Amino acid sequence: MSSPRSYTIAVIPGDGIGLEVMPPALRCLEAAATRFGFKLEFRSFPWASCTYYLKHGTMLPSDWKELLQACDAIYFGAVGDPATVPDHISLWGSILAFRREFDQYINLRPCRLIPGVTSPLANRAGKPIDFFTVRENTEGEYSSIGGMIFEGTERETVIQNTVFTRVGVDRVIRYAFELARSRPAKKLTSATKSNGISITMPYWDQRVEEIAKEYPDVQVEKYHIDILCAHFVQRPHTFDVVVGSNLFGDILSDLGPACTGTIGIAPSANLNPSSRREDPNTPWFPSLFEPVHGSAPDIAGQGIANPVGMIWAGQMMLEHLGEKNAADAMMRAIETVLGRAKDGAGGGLNILTPDMQGKGTTEELGSAIEQEI
Ligand code: ATP
Ligand code: MG
Repeated sequence: MSSPRSYTIAVIPGDGIGLEVMPPALRCLEAAATRFGFKLEFRSFPWASCTYYLKHGTMLPSDWKELLQACDAIYFGAVGDPATVPDHISLWGSILAFRREFDQYINLRPCRLIPGVTSPLANRAGKPIDFFTVRENTEGEYSSIGGMIFEGTERETVIQNTVFTRVGVDRVIRYAFELARSRPAKKLTSATKSNGISITMPYWDQRVEEIAKEYPDVQVEKYHIDILCAHFVQRPHTFDVVVGSNLFGDILSDLGPACTGTIGIAPSANLNPSSRREDPNTPWFPSLFEPVHGSAPDIAGQGIANPVGMIWAGQMMLEHLGEKNAADAMMRAIETVLGRAKDGAGGGLNILTPDMQGKGTTEELGSAIEQEI
């Protein structure tokens, strides 16, 4: 008899509604693990939160890296409390440190129209929206190379450079091609702006064309970022996998989930897809799964935050860990519960949270999904 599959998960609830959406999401994961015969060991950490910072003067303990590297994945709520700690301290001292230190070079977000969720575009599209945005997460436009010249004079000028490395560009493009290849539509859209940004963007285009030769089964198209944003709104159902640089990917990865409804349901993964825990020759860099939304101080403490973004992030985590059947079951449970509620069944509007025009609580919606799993 083989021993059951087992995974260790670092659980970091963080601040604000992160603390509220985490418990029901952990119960959903637990339910999926029980049903599909694997084990999840949750290691809960109070740091990477403003509460911890106010007590200790630092966002993270000195051994945070070892603690996280002892886990298979990181499950993160939300960080930030601008009223007490400035964002540049709370974000740079937590999630951005993880991203950098663990070289999480892919940011992956699904954009999918869930039955029952009111999308600003649902009526116009009339067709299923189901695509992914893939954002380069480590270099590009978000470099700190640059500075000011002629300071204090009339010629005062600031310059900030974009950095595209061959390794950095190739690995995100290749990841996007692999993802496209694994999906039925097999289509890759590349976001670019080579008519305006005349050195770095043509390089990106050139790498896409080069790598495309390895994927003859994947259809490739490229659009300038401005018209691509327009197409996201006008015909979101035609996209499958959309890849972009750090800046363009950032824009598209917020626009995509916005096209499919409330920010409260959207998940996000920061991945290092090439790191292998079992490989003794390279350091282990765990990936991180979180909701798109932040700590939402305006609704924190009321018990009405939508837990679906956190639960769906857990679904992405199970898929990443190789538990495909459990991940599929979680996705079906989310879709079933939301679709049913919108139709007035299964508790109706009483189980949907207020951001979905309902009267329910975090606990009620979370429990309904847990039951369904
Ligand atoms: P960050 O800077 O981390 O992105 P933010 O303050 O810009 O955080 P959010 O915390 O995501 O943004 O909140 C934006 C708005 O969306 C807020 O008005 C909040 O009430 C609402 N919101 C965010 N998440 C949820 C959720 N899970 N359920 C309901 N409403 C939410
Ligand atoms: Mg924000």
